[in-house]
Amino acid sequence: MPHFSVGRRRLIAAGVGAPLLIGAGGSATPQVSGQALPGDAALPEPPATRVGWAIVGLGSFALGQVIPGFLDARLSRIGALVSGNPDKRKQVAERYGVPRSYSYEDYDRLIDDDGVECVYIALPVGLHAEYTIRALKAGKHVLCEKPMASTSQECEAMITAAREAGRQLGVAYRVHFEATNLEALRRFRAGEIGELRHLSTEAGFVINPEYPPHAWRLTRALGGGGSMFDIGIYGLNGALMYFDEPPREVSAVYSTPQGDPRFAEVEGGIDWRLRFANGVSVQGASSYTFSYTTGQRMLGSRGSLELQPASTYYDNALSLRRDGQPPALLRPGNPIQQFAAQVDAFSEAARSGTPHRTPGEMGLRDIRLIEAMYRSADQQGALVRVG
Ligand code: NDP
Repeated sequence: MPHFSVGRRRLIAAGVGAPLLIGAGGSATPQVSGQALPGDAALPEPPATRVGWAIVGLGSFALGQVIPGFLDARLSRIGALVSGNPDKRKQVAERYGVPRSYSYEDYDRLIDDDGVECVYIALPVGLHAEYTIRALKAGKHVLCEKPMASTSQECEAMITAAREAGRQLGVAYRVHFEATNLEALRRFRAGEIGELRHLSTEAGFVINPEYPPHAWRLTRALGGGGSMFDIGIYGLNGALMYFDEPPREVSAVYSTPQGDPRFAEVEGGIDWRLRFANGVSVQGASSYTFSYTTGQRMLGSRGSLELQPASTYYDNALSLRRDGQPPALLRPGNPIQQFAAQVDAFSEAARSGTPHRTPGEMGLRDIRLIEAMYRSADQQGALVRVG
């Protein structure tokens, strides 16, 4: 077995002679001694050969989750930052040792930067399409935050740009890389709850128009849509992980509080339903007016799985109930790793040219379904056929 004995050689070279004996029994003091690499060690890629990323938009999510997530990444590193605020740009670059930073006016210089292979778009939704397409045209791979864009037409244009450039386009649906959600899906696919009969999901938080990161979400131009675009989309996308086929019909009604001035441009809430060809339906609620909630429940013929909470950054939990057994609470991994796992999976897809788990087509599918929900809600819940 290979044995690394540098520590011992160093001690001898430093004049440390025979081992000291201590204790009544005269047992030897433990000696430092190098060990073999564990056989299954998958060492992180050295920084110089990792995939370089540019982070575009240094807002609350980029600063709070995306950038710190890179500290746990194994294949990815931050090569550049893009921000409209020069002081913030400088501070964040220094803090994380990022070599280059750019303003939005300099965006076209960034896209000429050879140290950047992938671009992470963390801007308000209304800016996703433009900044994604510009980066794709410059030959970068792009991972764009959810929701993919303001309209399905914008999503289509982004997909076309990726195809023409021969580059990867992904949507940052992080729960596809999160241990608790992956465990729920694995157990479901292993048949642990039998046939899926019903799925329900709720997602919401109380929006504060005085808080800048919330203020743009209340405008059509930057938010694209309302609560369903922003938070309800987690429930929609999370639910669709449990189906191999798209739904046939969509219906929805608005649940926006009457006369609430916050919701002059976008909906404050929506209750929605998807129906599938096999008769199963998904029921969801999304709101900017209920206290922070994110949950998902799968009811099967032989048991149920419940993610509660389902899509937080830090503390998702899964409970499994099977016929005749007490519920089991499962925490299969640390949810915080989802951010590193997501960028590493995209880096790997970009380098290898293999499909990414959450491609642009998935983002387009979800925006089309939300548009169908809005069409239904505009007609007081009329059924809208989508497949
Ligand atoms: P913030 O408002 O906190 O950040 C947005 C940043 O975009 C700003 O700080 C600013 O960065 C830049 N920006 C450029 N132009 C504008 C403009 N006209 N108005 C406002 N900001 C502008 O938003 P979030 O960080 O919460 O959201 C950013 C993206 O991340 C959105 O797409 C959102 O949906 C997504 N998101 C995803 C989450 C997830 O769980 N996957 C969670 C939260 C958000 P700068 O000052 O550096 O120029």
